[in-house]
Amino acid sequence: MKKEEHNYSKNSPKVFIRTYGCQMNEYDSEIMAGLLKSSGYHLTDNPAEAGVILLNTCYVREKVKHKIYSRLGELKKLKEEKPELILGLCGCLVQKEPEEVLRRAPYLDFILGTSNFYQLPEVLEDISGNHNRESQSGDKYARVVRVEEDRAIPEGMPKLRKRRFSAFVSVMRGCNNFCSYCNVPYVRGREVSRPRKDILREIEELAQKGYKEVTLLGQNVNSYGKESREKVDFADLLGFVDQIEGLRRIRFTTSHPKDLSDKLIEKMAELDKVCEHLHLPVQSGSNKILSRMKRGYTREHYQNLVHKLRQAIPQIALTTDIIVGFPGEKEKDFQDTLELVETVGFDGAFTFCYSPLKGTEAAQLEERIPEETSGQRLRRLIELQQAILLKKNESLVGENFEVMVEGISKKSPHAVEGRTRGNKIVIFRGGKNIIGQFTSVEVVEAGCWALKGKIGSC
Ligand code: SAM
Ligand code: SF4
Repeated sequence: MKKEEHNYSKNSPKVFIRTYGCQMNEYDSEIMAGLLKSSGYHLTDNPAEAGVILLNTCYVREKVKHKIYSRLGELKKLKEEKPELILGLCGCLVQKEPEEVLRRAPYLDFILGTSNFYQLPEVLEDISGNHNRESQSGDKYARVVRVEEDRAIPEGMPKLRKRRFSAFVSVMRGCNNFCSYCNVPYVRGREVSRPRKDILREIEELAQKGYKEVTLLGQNVNSYGKESREKVDFADLLGFVDQIEGLRRIRFTTSHPKDLSDKLIEKMAELDKVCEHLHLPVQSGSNKILSRMKRGYTREHYQNLVHKLRQAIPQIALTTDIIVGFPGEKEKDFQDTLELVETVGFDGAFTFCYSPLKGTEAAQLEERIPEETSGQRLRRLIELQQAILLKKNESLVGENFEVMVEGISKKSPHAVEGRTRGNKIVIFRGGKNIIGQFTSVEVVEAGCWALKGKIGSC
């Protein structure tokens, strides 16, 4: 819709969007922000000046859900002070339990499911029309509820990107794996790959606008194309993306160990723009637990993949996800996880205590692990992983790396920060003028979360 055809937008309230969860949710928020902007709305980073507040939710663990409901409680108070405030919720939590959401937060003006989020501008228009009617006639306005399943997401929607040189690009939505603990297949539906031409067009446009790096997104990118007629798999797709002029770096996430093919490893090694980093969630080092998680691989298979990856790409950085305290996890199983972590030597790990989620298979499993035990295991795991990471990072001191400068450092206004191809954060002295550039940086000091450097010599 053109700006001048949009009556409501002339006096449109400012919109504040808060995103919870993974990059997929961030990508959806970028689409919603882009659609709003092109419909004449203004976005704001300040909820206090917003006329519309939208929470784009995730639901991978109960803790996140509690956080969202508690934020909604605060927003309810704000709405009591400012009744014209429009409050909305969208994303995974809404898709999973729309009735529960409306029961607990009846003051919400709208809810949108994971297949409906892009309808935000028309929903806001409906609501604003109703709000206006209410103020003239005293009518009660209707709440808008749009929660459908597996509705196709249109192509070519505008996006308001958060970052200037690095962009997320979705290559597929949904997941067919049904790992026993996971909500994603229930809230995001079955796998649907985007057509290759649409993905390439989006990345070409990004490259023309000066973007240097893309991260291709999917819950399991290794199944890209399996359900489509195009006969292009993920390794082929990487080959096409690699040819796009102007682009310097390609990343992707997430890779499922059961579907990581030799072909993909070869492509990663062969293609210049594909960065030497792979996020390969292992979840557990115990075969018994992996089987209960329905992950479809063994610890030996995972270790073999690590071996192949390191043979093909010696400098590759590997990161992972690990869940502790899964039902039935004995101390011995946990020891297997610690041992795997030690043997592989990960460059980073997202670590979680198992959270039982209603409707998932694992929530029915017996032998629940007490929270205290899970918490202790989590702390032991984090301690081990930090020690490994620090040692690995210390071994990088004195080496030079190509860094893409992403912005001014959060730690100091006189320093910038960026990432190596291996996805390590490096902070070094520099100013605004080098943001977006690639520069060689020598590592001078190592920490767990970031490296300190100085402009290098290679
Ligand atoms: N598709 C990715 C994969 O297969 O590894 C992961 C997607 S999930 C959104 C991100 C991570 O959240 C998972 O890798 C897992 O470690 C964690 N996670 C998912 N469900 C969980 C649960 N019920 N309890 C604890 N952690 C969970
Ligand atoms: Fe969830 Fe497993 Fe799918 Fe990842 S692969 S999104 S963990 S079901």
